[in-house]
Amino acid sequence: MAVQESFLRCTACEQEAEHQVVYAGRFVSEIQCTGCGAVTRLDVSEDYLPDLRQRISSKPGRLVRRLRTDPGELASSLPVRTLSKPVRMLQEFRAVWRSRS
Ligand SMILES: [Zn+2]
Repeated sequence: MAVQESFLRCTACEQEAEHQVVYAGRFVSEIQCTGCGAVTRLDVSEDYLPDLRQRISSKPGRLVRRLRTDPGELASSLPVRTLSKPVRMLQEFRAVWRSRS
């Protein structure tokens, strides 16, 4: 699980505050407001799972089986090293955030 901090407007308390942004691969899966503690979960599975399948397609067996049985659990346990372009991801995240408000 990878976490970045970002200064955002909270959808719950409507304050500008630091948010902890949790990534699943290239995609934001969860955002927590450090001001009020509100957690926003984003359903990234539709976009994320094909991306992950492609990324791990060279790896046989266990990961793929886990992906089929419990994609949520797998998404939450991805290693930080899958993150290679934090700035670009932040931009993606902001685009997602805007599209939801
Ligand atoms: Zn808040």
